[in-house]
Amino acid sequence: MQAEFTDLETLLEIQKIDLEIIQAKKKRVELPQRIEVMRLRKKRGEIQEKLDQVYELQKRADGEMTEVEDEDRSLVEKQERAQELIDAAGSDYRKVESHSKEMAGVAKRRETLAEKRVEVQAQLDKIKGVRDQLEGAIAASEAEESRLRAAFEGEDTALADQIRACTAKRDEMAASIAPDLVKLYAKTAEKTGGVAIGKLEEDTCGICRTGIEGGRLIALKAEAPLGTCPTCKRLLVIE
Ligand SMILES: [Zn+2]
Repeated sequence: MQAEFTDLETLLEIQKIDLEIIQAKKKRVELPQRIEVMRLRKKRGEIQEKLDQVYELQKRADGEMTEVEDEDRSLVEKQERAQELIDAAGSDYRKVESHSKEMAGVAKRRETLAEKRVEVQAQLDKIKGVRDQLEGAIAASEAEESRLRAAFEGEDTALADQIRACTAKRDEMAASIAPDLVKLYAKTAEKTGGVAIGKLEEDTCGICRTGIEGGRLIALKAEAPLGTCPTCKRLLVIE
């Protein structure tokens, strides 16, 4: 194939830059912080689910506590009313006895409620402990994500800058050589995914390292300065 040797040298340089661009792009996708952030988020989702269950338990316990307190408050009023009636009963012993009995009943119920209140309070304390622990774990995970994101953004920006600079440089170089050659290289690179051009080293393809013998070697050399490896189909500079 017809080509200037200097153009082929430039093409080999362009390829070096293109491979650097591919590496940088791959590195961007595989930044460890990006992967770690995804892992953190998944874990945090699991903690949040547990926390939602704890909130539900707390709501129920709070409701029970309110019921106990409401009932106790109404019993206090009942006690006060009964006391007033006793005070007003004077020497009516039947009334005094009946209201005293009522007072005793109310006092007994209030004792039961006091026990219940201790029980529910213990439950609430336990729930609060678990809730604090889970909320703490979520806050720590969010702080870790912020730290990772800051580190990640620095590296990501550096890689993006590198890609931009490399692209500008290779485009400038590509503009200085024969357009058909650039097109052929680009088409080959697309097919081979990465390395598209190498050198024929004696009778061996410099890329796939396959030996080229006899008639095939003669035919390839006839294509000088640019041929195609019969095995890997990449471009070969023949010096
Ligand atoms: Zn080859």
